[in-house]
Amino acid sequence: MPADFLSHPFTPEETAEDHRRLRQQAQAFTSEHIAPLTAPMEARGPHTDHTVRAALAETGWLGVLLCNGWGGLALGHVAKTVILQVLAFTSPAAAAILQASVLGAAPIAEFGSEEMQRAWLPEIAAGRCWPTIAVTEPGRGSHVLGIETTARRSGRQYILEGEKVLVGNAALGDVHCVVARTGKAGKANSLTAFLVEKGTLGLDIVPAPVNGLHGFSVDTVRLTRVCVPATHVIGHVGDGLAVAQHASVVYGRLNLAAVALGTHQRLLQETAQRVTTRPRYRGNLSDLDTVRHRIADMQHHLMTAELAAYHAAHLLDQGVPCDPWLHHAKLTAHRAGAASCEHAKQLWGGHAARLGSTVEQFRRDFDLIHAPAGPDDLQLIRLAEHILGPHRPHWSAHHTT
Ligand SMILES: Cc1cc2nc3c(=O)[nH]c(=O)nc-3n(C[C@H](O)[C@H](O)[C@H](O)COP(=O)(O)OP(=O)(O)OC[C@H]3O[C@@H](n4cnc5c(N)ncnc54)[C@H](O)[C@@H]3O)c2cc1C
Repeated sequence: MPADFLSHPFTPEETAEDHRRLRQQAQAFTSEHIAPLTAPMEARGPHTDHTVRAALAETGWLGVLLCNGWGGLALGHVAKTVILQVLAFTSPAAAAILQASVLGAAPIAEFGSEEMQRAWLPEIAAGRCWPTIAVTEPGRGSHVLGIETTARRSGRQYILEGEKVLVGNAALGDVHCVVARTGKAGKANSLTAFLVEKGTLGLDIVPAPVNGLHGFSVDTVRLTRVCVPATHVIGHVGDGLAVAQHASVVYGRLNLAAVALGTHQRLLQETAQRVTTRPRYRGNLSDLDTVRHRIADMQHHLMTAELAAYHAAHLLDQGVPCDPWLHHAKLTAHRAGAASCEHAKQLWGGHAARLGSTVEQFRRDFDLIHAPAGPDDLQLIRLAEHILGPHRPHWSAHHTT
């Protein structure tokens, strides 16, 4: 198995010890409460799983980043990465469920008024309220400034109209952070974020199954003349782009990197086990140089991805503006994992695609980690900007202040 990355900590020894303990606790919890759910979840195919939500609600992990004053654990981004990696090793879908609502809490925690925070964060930290973030639209994905969903002021409320797609946890969310247009297209302050509560008249969640991460769903959020009070504006009118980008860059990049790490790690473990037990000539596949080389390359990819993710998480925890490291962490986690998926495909031969096998499931789940928080091409665009310009302020600088 891969070396324990926490035995070579980025963090001071006492914090590293906390992270090691957290990892053991997360492993114990996952074995007892999540592992038994994985086979039925996988067998049901695409659906929204409520049993995982119920199990995770007990852990307090939804509030892993929230401050103690709101009832959160305030453990930081390294700890969050540990938890998501451990969860994803057993169930990429369970990790995806947790990360989507950790992401959904970010706008309230980072931009919400004190009144809004008081109303929502204790409920979130206690695992009773699962928020989502709804930015993506059918015609506008990565191009956030092109958002077409509108929010029109009418007295003391706003009326929202439009459609959001691929919204993680849409069907189990209690409150949605919806980014909509309030100003002229193309202007940086033309978007605003709103809280829309489950059950609001005109809010419909339309199932839109995807192929993978069974139990985690990314459904459509349809808004037909949805009225929300003006007090549900997150931050200020015009903050919508900042809310969306901040959540995606500072939270989403690392969340998805962490889910990728656990999925990748499991794929390596399953593949190593396979080649050490599959007979070939007078020994096993693992005796052959070609096979050993591929396993070594998978290990190299996993270690590279771990370094990238934990380094970025550590910088965030230290309050260092680090956007390029966050783009790099997501890019590396996906590219490295995708390279290992290819090795796994080679080493499992014709059995790699056998329905119901762990290798087939984990390769399929891994594919879905590519787009959220930005596909690889978008991370490369941001990294190019870091070197060549135009130079942008770090979203992580807002987080750190
Ligand atoms: C599992 C999963 C969970 C998700 N969770 C959420 C969620 O909780 N909330 C939410 O709002 N959304 C969510 N999404 C949606 C996700 O954020 C989008 O898929 C992502 O932003 C990309 O948008 P798109 O799919 O519309 O692709 P597009 O923006 O259409 O991009 C497609 C491709 O076009 C190319 N491209 C696009 N723009 C450029 C450019 N400027 N320059 C060069 N090439 C470009 C790239 O190759 C890119 O991969 C989720 C998606 C998945 C699969």
